[in-house]
Amino acid sequence: MRISALQTGTVAVKEAQREGRGSGPARIVNVLRGKQWTEPLPIHVWVIEHPEGVIVVDTGETARVMEPGWFPRWNPYFRNAVRFSVRPDQEIGPQLEHIGVSPQRVRWVVITHMHTDHAGGLPAFPQAEILVTQAELDASSGVSGRINGYLPQHRPDWFAPRVVEWDSEPWGPFPASMPLTSAGDVRLVPTPGHTPGHMSVVVQEAEGPLIFFAGDTSYTQELMRRGAVDGVSADPAAAAETLRRIHDLCAAGDVVYLPTHDPESARRLASRSPVPRS
Ligand SMILES: [Zn+2]
Repeated sequence: MRISALQTGTVAVKEAQREGRGSGPARIVNVLRGKQWTEPLPIHVWVIEHPEGVIVVDTGETARVMEPGWFPRWNPYFRNAVRFSVRPDQEIGPQLEHIGVSPQRVRWVVITHMHTDHAGGLPAFPQAEILVTQAELDASSGVSGRINGYLPQHRPDWFAPRVVEWDSEPWGPFPASMPLTSAGDVRLVPTPGHTPGHMSVVVQEAEGPLIFFAGDTSYTQELMRRGAVDGVSADPAAAAETLRRIHDLCAAGDVVYLPTHDPESARRLASRSPVPRS
């Protein structure tokens, strides 16, 4: 089972988004008005070449974000608080071809959440089975979805994902999970907070630590260890609870923790470096 880190360009956000400041509505105001930007952060996509089929975790961003008018002008977040850089050759399709995986060969695409930098590459996968939670579909649809920063108008016409059905059994610190593979070595777990239906993907290789594909549960490993919630989470209390669960999982055994936008994630994956236990 080969696991690869791909990168579909970069995104810079405000420091007050990477680590939230203030409480209540002030958190988002601090993001919109913040003057300090992060460095350009990677937009990662993870590829698991599993014996049962190729699994892609998130699809990264499309180069179309560089076109004028792609983002709604009325939305202050897109106007003032985010800067993308994505070239056509950095999109998920060419990146997969580059490692010898044809997008047509992908069996499953797991979308941790429907934000544009995770769902923007969906058009590359018309044949794949796309997995999304019901809560995330609801949150990202319609007028309220647009107001909350999703771009349902840019979903492919054919978009009809398989809705994740959670087991009622707890899995470690998580109240539920769903095995994706028959072997049970790739599992989805609910990690709400950043968005209402956010989920993460856990892989157990034949040997070695668990690998936790975290999406945007935090922007770095250090922030997860501190329990620091980002500045744009839909539900900061739920996000804090999710970080506590991840922290407990990492305390119980070796876990390689891989947020989408952590500049260190690809290196930690390559060296299978677990979260320090103390
Ligand atoms: Zn993101």
